[in-house]
Amino acid sequence: MSEGADDLFALPGLSRSAPRGGFPAHEMFPQVAYEIVHDELMLDGVSRMNLATFCTTWVDDQARRLMSECLDKNIVDKDEYPQTAELERRAVRMVADLWHAPDPATTHGTSTIGSSEAAMLGGLAAKFRWRKRGGTGTPNFVCGPVQVCWEKFARYFDVEIRQIPLRGDRLTMHPDDLAEHCDANTMMVVPTFGQTYTGLFEDVVGVSAALDALQREKDWDIPIHVDAASGGFLAPFAAPDLVWDFRLPRVKSINASGHKTGLAPLGAGWAIWRDAADLPEELIFDVDYLGGSMATFNLNFSRPGGQAITQYYEFIRLGRAGYARVQSAIYRVAQHLAAGLRGLEVFELIHDGDPQRGITAVCWRLTGDPGWNLYDLSDRLRSRGWLIAAYPLPADRGEETVMRAVLRHGFTVDMADLLLADLARCIRQLRQRPFSTSLTREEAGGFTHTASPAVPQTTIAASRS
Ligand SMILES: *Cc1c(COP(=O)(O)O)cnc(C)c1O
Repeated sequence: MSEGADDLFALPGLSRSAPRGGFPAHEMFPQVAYEIVHDELMLDGVSRMNLATFCTTWVDDQARRLMSECLDKNIVDKDEYPQTAELERRAVRMVADLWHAPDPATTHGTSTIGSSEAAMLGGLAAKFRWRKRGGTGTPNFVCGPVQVCWEKFARYFDVEIRQIPLRGDRLTMHPDDLAEHCDANTMMVVPTFGQTYTGLFEDVVGVSAALDALQREKDWDIPIHVDAASGGFLAPFAAPDLVWDFRLPRVKSINASGHKTGLAPLGAGWAIWRDAADLPEELIFDVDYLGGSMATFNLNFSRPGGQAITQYYEFIRLGRAGYARVQSAIYRVAQHLAAGLRGLEVFELIHDGDPQRGITAVCWRLTGDPGWNLYDLSDRLRSRGWLIAAYPLPADRGEETVMRAVLRHGFTVDMADLLLADLARCIRQLRQRPFSTSLTREEAGGFTHTASPAVPQTTIAASRS
């Protein structure tokens, strides 16, 4: 290396393009490789301005430290890391308690990589229970507009998904639609407690009552699995009297994403069963643990331990009082944003951040046709760094476009004001200089992956390609 060439950006690795095709032939200094990767990531969006995501984008320094300290802990090695296993077990009991399991100390539950894995486990348990009850043929499950993980579950595990289309001006699954979609092979009904499309809670009490009526009439005892991916760590604190969990005897399992409103870093989910007996033995694999054995039931084998550990940290750090304060603060920001959106006089609010009705999100649509659409607005906002999803409602409402902002820990009133000012500016620009033709969903960019695209109506057996 010639003298003077020791500046990082004068080193050979940085004087040509980064390797991107075949496996690289040569090595480079770690500082150089780091700089290449670090700098390339500058093109990513700013996660805290990404209001399309439900997931954690802010954690405190202690959480960061724990994540870094636990980098080398494999959660599957229960015998080697017994205290990691112990912290996970404590967290399971805490979540079971939070959701009113009859006996939180003895019921089954597990951390997962997210709600998708947790949903698959809940679905698989329902499938095994259904078969044990004598079910034959292809089982089905009934739901409203669901997150894409349920379509995945149906296709991967050969189960029929029956999504109830949204009739009239409905935005959630309605209990009075259930009878027509259930039959003797219905292995579960899955209400979403915090819908992906709108953030609204589905009516779990109503669903449960409708299934009670169906049992009286037809003798079908259909269990409920609640997909509480985002609502599971909100309602217990911000709307504690809202009944949606194990207080309803028909609810046999619940999933939630620790890495959404649970405030844990990415890669944390929870699956909890009402009672140990609700998790069929066939799904349990015993592993060595301190000279004995421990039940495990996961789709993954190796998985990082830091997420469950950091979730436990968040639980003991905040407790019920702390979670209530954090979540109420975010709801207040959501309500502030909703009020500001109303003030712009072009939007109608579908969800305005009411903790009794939905999650810490705001969802809105245009009241008329101003000559631009929500994809145009989403695109304009992107030029200021805001990532806000615009997408069509699910069947049968697929002609209607909505916009949704999910607010999370770390989003402040001040940021909401900055966003509102940018919204007003973008709307002014669209009025003055409208696009000659409005953007389509595809042109506006694809950060709407958390919303399952409109699905074919009625009963689809994993027909989407
Ligand atoms: C996010 C979400 C999921 C998927 O959860 P992951 O944690 O991202 O795997 C499932 N259902 C609903 C309702 C969601 O919001």
